[in-house]
Amino acid sequence: MNTTTDHAALSDADKKAQFNFNKLTKWLRHAVGDAINDFNMIEPGDRVMVCLSGGKDSYTMLDILLGLQRSAPIDFSIVAVNLDQKQPGFPGHVLPEYLASLGVEYRIVEEDTYSIVKRVVPDGKTTCGLCSRLRRGILYRVADELGATKIALGHHREDILETLFLNMFHGGKLKAMPPKLVSDDGRHVVIRPLAYCREKDIVRYAEARQFPIIPCNLCGSQPNLQRQVIGDMIADWDKRFPGRVENMFRALQNVVPTHLADTSLYDFAGARADGVAREDGDKAFDSETFSEPNRINILANRPDDVAGCGAD
Ligand code: SF4
Repeated sequence: MNTTTDHAALSDADKKAQFNFNKLTKWLRHAVGDAINDFNMIEPGDRVMVCLSGGKDSYTMLDILLGLQRSAPIDFSIVAVNLDQKQPGFPGHVLPEYLASLGVEYRIVEEDTYSIVKRVVPDGKTTCGLCSRLRRGILYRVADELGATKIALGHHREDILETLFLNMFHGGKLKAMPPKLVSDDGRHVVIRPLAYCREKDIVRYAEARQFPIIPCNLCGSQPNLQRQVIGDMIADWDKRFPGRVENMFRALQNVVPTHLADTSLYDFAGARADGVAREDGDKAFDSETFSEPNRINILANRPDDVAGCGAD
């Protein structure tokens, strides 16, 4: 989408498409801005290392962060980083050309993790675990070299919910993917500015902006089938039960340890009747009533409320 086209010269259809794209952009910027504020992701003077894979999510993250950087009341710098893992067929020229055209500071890091993974992991076994660990170590090292104070990853709302279900179904843990965390070595802060963004909005945005997407299957690894199944389940719910995905995400922000069963989070053993009534106390035997999701509030002003979003 050409965002600089003279409005008067546009046809009605183009004007509508432009309007819808602007609305989508506004929505994504608000979602990213809210996440940044809620989790204090970016502070004055931060140097944010934006990890760019060449997929729709990281392109969108960089684009939105650059837009916010121009209008934000605080000063922070951005350096884009791509790790070229030497997968066969990786078009190494695409990202440097794109980033140079933006005028953003960037670093392309070339590390042949592909060969390591192929050598170490037996045929037929999934390679993603080792590949991710190698990539993470390299990115932390590069963050140090660049003096980056934050490492931004392009995971979105659905990635976070998929991780929640993966951990529940296969790991026996109530654990998702946090919008902000301190790395396992305690030396880096990782942020996920797209945490509040819906994947379908990112898809529309990436299509409209015509990012030069690099396919994500160059390594030849099988997609994570369990993640795929859960992703399909969430997408299906989203279609059939409007508001459910929003509610699931809100649940991550409304945790009630007294109503779970983790004895390390709440002292169940020490729970005693003390005769003190509590406003928010449990009704014990009453079943809870759930209102229908407030569709009007949940969906108000969403980009796809407008028929025929120009980015589709
Ligand atoms: S899909 Fe390929 S590049 Fe991505 S984590 Fe798995 S092995 Fe690595």
